[in-house]
Amino acid sequence: MTEVVSTTQGVEQEYDAIVVGAGIAGLYAIYRLREMGLRVRGIEAAPAVGGTWYWNCYPGARVDSQSYIYQYWFSDELIQEWNWNERFPPQKEVEGYLNFVADKFSLRENYAFDTRVTSADWDNDAQRWRIGTDQGDSLSASYFISCTGMLSEPKAPNFPGKDDFQGTVVHTARYPREGLDLKGKRVGVVGCGATGIQLIQTIASEVEQLTVFQRTASYGVAMRNDQFDDAARDHWRAKAPELQEQVYNSFVGFDYNFENGSWYDDTPERRLQVLEEKWQEGSLSMWVGTYPEMFTDDAVNEEISKFVRDKIRSRIDDPAVADLVIPKTHGFGTYRVPLENGYYDVYNQDNVELVDVKSAPIESFTATGLKTTEGEYPLDIIIMATGFNAGTGSLAKMNIHGRDGLSLSDEWDKDIRTTLGLQVHGFPNLFTVAGPLAPSAAFCNMTTCLQQQVDWVKDCIAHLREQQLKSIEPTQEKQDEWVAHHDEVSNATLLVATQSWYTGANIEGKPSRLISYIGGVNEYHRICEEVQESGYEGFTKV
Ligand code: NAP
Repeated sequence: MTEVVSTTQGVEQEYDAIVVGAGIAGLYAIYRLREMGLRVRGIEAAPAVGGTWYWNCYPGARVDSQSYIYQYWFSDELIQEWNWNERFPPQKEVEGYLNFVADKFSLRENYAFDTRVTSADWDNDAQRWRIGTDQGDSLSASYFISCTGMLSEPKAPNFPGKDDFQGTVVHTARYPREGLDLKGKRVGVVGCGATGIQLIQTIASEVEQLTVFQRTASYGVAMRNDQFDDAARDHWRAKAPELQEQVYNSFVGFDYNFENGSWYDDTPERRLQVLEEKWQEGSLSMWVGTYPEMFTDDAVNEEISKFVRDKIRSRIDDPAVADLVIPKTHGFGTYRVPLENGYYDVYNQDNVELVDVKSAPIESFTATGLKTTEGEYPLDIIIMATGFNAGTGSLAKMNIHGRDGLSLSDEWDKDIRTTLGLQVHGFPNLFTVAGPLAPSAAFCNMTTCLQQQVDWVKDCIAHLREQQLKSIEPTQEKQDEWVAHHDEVSNATLLVATQSWYTGANIEGKPSRLISYIGGVNEYHRICEEVQESGYEGFTKV
């Protein structure tokens, strides 16, 4: 049940903090700020809590982090009470978890649902944010905390002729909550990233005919999805304190790390053994738990890529199809590695056709399907698994203006710059949880990084209040320093050469910069703490 908080149109409602988003970060921010005694208002576009896990309800949506680390750590009671059923739970279960949290801590009462922020302007005289919504509300607050997630602005290709198409077109991130009846239908899926893979492997057996339009292939790792009984749950519950410590001090916020040392210190036999062991684990440890040189050294990356390509090839009967499905344009791990559960086997089914739209791009919709430069494909339903305008998309849409009317969206159209991914010069008291240039933008188990960032924001606000300060923002120099460090770390990796949402390459005209900090969650955590311990050196406080 969702409860829409009623608002008084025309009268400005005053708060200490406005939190945008009711996903993992937003719910946690509300909890923490309320605990500090702040008057907090949450604003959420959806009619319910869940964020990503509300919107992405396409068939097969599932988390790629193990459930026992994809959770909040702040309440032991919560850890004891919630029962995870699987190692990698489906969307419904994660959404259920977030609803459980919202109920348990009465978080809904702070939210206005079905409401979008349409403007946010910094009033320098009052040292407050003035916020407008599509429901006609006017609100003001000292702190404006965006918890909108880094993948919440869906992006669909603008093929001409959409209005001519007589069937149904949906984007995976706006999949109807009531589902679609796919039985007996000719379904087309555009896109083979993490989302496309989950969708395709799930619906292939249900639809009459599945046509997959692939432009870039992905390196999937076969998921091992253990089902949990009470003994397994107790095992992980007992380990919770240790896991929390581990995730905060790991490279990507998981309970595994690069623990095998250097690739070059191992014999070829030992390397193969490590890769095989990690493969059998059936988790993202195959990506971020093997050898660190995978990210920086072409030769090592090629060896590991070859290992994965062979695994994929062994699953597909038709060598020509296998050739198409095996990635060639980038190395393993230089782009988000999805976990898959039967994805490659789908291409052995008679009702599944793979269309290479790299060599023959999609030109347009027709009345009855999609047309590529080589032919027409009759379809009843087209599902766009075509990704997002990552990191900047949802923030840009809120029409945020900082000091002297500076527009965040205009600034980021020129160059995407932040300080620690948490604040932006020129925008006092704006906190961008999961913003660009932090590990949470892409390179982290999200719950780890989001909780760490919200804690940083909470501590920062507590500091301001203790010191009776009204605002904080990074200096230009501090921001330049962070961006330079970010670039130095990114440019030493192979990730910057791969075209993907990681570098903004999926959005025409978007400035190119690795969206996520890749110096390590542990290192990022250390730097964030250092800033706080220094009394926010490099930040202007008023
Ligand atoms: P994505 O990784 O950006 O993939 C989009 C796909 O659509 C790509 O294959 C892209 O091809 C294709 N595409 C875009 N425009 C196209 C066009 N005009 N014609 C043909 N193909 C086109 O998006 P995503 O799969 O939604 O995943 C985004 C992120 O969400 C993931 O990287 C992951 O971080 C997150 N996610 C997580 C989970 C999980 O935890 N389990 C699940 C799903 C998603 P090109 O590469 O050639 O552009």
